[in-house]
Amino acid sequence: MDFTAARARLVLSLRREITDEGVLDAVEKVPRELFVPPSQREYAYEDRPLPIGHGQTISQPFIIALMVQAMELKGGEKVLEVGTGSGYQAAILAHIADYVVTVERYGDLADKAAAVLRRLGYANIEVHEAKSRLGWREAAPYDAIVVAAGAPMVPQELLDQLKNMGRLVIPVGSRYEQDLLQVVKNDDDFTYRNLGPCRWVPLVGEGAWDDVGDVNP
Ligand code: SAH
Repeated sequence: MDFTAARARLVLSLRREITDEGVLDAVEKVPRELFVPPSQREYAYEDRPLPIGHGQTISQPFIIALMVQAMELKGGEKVLEVGTGSGYQAAILAHIADYVVTVERYGDLADKAAAVLRRLGYANIEVHEAKSRLGWREAAPYDAIVVAAGAPMVPQELLDQLKNMGRLVIPVGSRYEQDLLQVVKNDDDFTYRNLGPCRWVPLVGEGAWDDVGDVNP
């Protein structure tokens, strides 16, 4: 299969709705086929989520592009991703921002993602197994934070880890469907923008959903 041609076709279709050239350029550069299990490789450039184990998924390319676009990155930023999963979105971010911190609840997904990212030569990403507290305070504050899982509310813990004028992009809603929100911090004020409906696996932990175990391991 010609992955390069498939990737170019994906970028072309994303162009219909994504306008940030930096984001499109990053999608053009990251080999999504290396972030999915071998059995899923032939589907790597279909615009849909794919299973990566533990009932988790590598997200749909369009939604990833939409979220990264909403982070409004110009280059030079330090960003946080909550929910490393396969590591694909972290790689996209690493092409645009200066430095990426990413955290993942499942230690073996974090290890796998870190190994692929290392193999591909990304030197500006640090992958951590998540602690009970949401996010990663050790490297805060961040210019932008993206949450790759659905939350029941906007977690104060993540707002605290944002710089002033920082952007938090997070799906908020029920366990099964959410609205994608962009929250901008302006001193003690926050502005909210709704980017539309989406479906994510649940954000689990303190300030989010309870763990119900692997739904579909
Ligand atoms: N961005 C990923 C897709 C992530 S799927 C990619 O590009 O492949 C969402 C991930 O969030 C899952 O792997 C899940 O285990 C993780 N997750 C859920 N709650 C979390 C939390 N509180 N902290 C860190 N990771 C979390």
